[in-house]
Amino acid sequence: MTNENYDDSNVFAKILRGEIPAKKIFENEQILAFADINPIADVHVLVIPKGEFVSFDHFLEKASSVEVAVFFENVKFVAEKIGVKGAYRMVTNVGEKAGQTVRHFHVHILAGEEMPEMA
Ligand code: AMP
Repeated sequence: MTNENYDDSNVFAKILRGEIPAKKIFENEQILAFADINPIADVHVLVIPKGEFVSFDHFLEKASSVEVAVFFENVKFVAEKIGVKGAYRMVTNVGEKAGQTVRHFHVHILAGEEMPEMA
């Protein structure tokens, strides 16, 4: 079990509460998709669940199987909506050592001509 405490002062929680702006791309009851503020590819969109999950590991431990499935169906839907169906990289950093800087679970959708190298 991951020992994770969700802290709702993180930047994505603030975006969800409307406290700071974001370039929203799609939203429904389960997820919000918005443009990454510091894109590393032609297309760089973040998809986050509305629930309080720190990381992918935490999400898998705490969310129901249905919630997990619905989240990833939404990621696919967003990829189709932004026009990168079948041609994108889906990345999630788990933990500080892997480069996770925002402690609210998120998936990066990356696509375009100039794709960054996998670090
Ligand atoms: P990670 O390093 O995997 O935790 O990804 C966090 C991502 O959030 C980075 O790619 C940042 O550029 C992005 N980010 C941070 N603050 C904001 C913000 N206010 N709006 C949109 N994206 C953000």
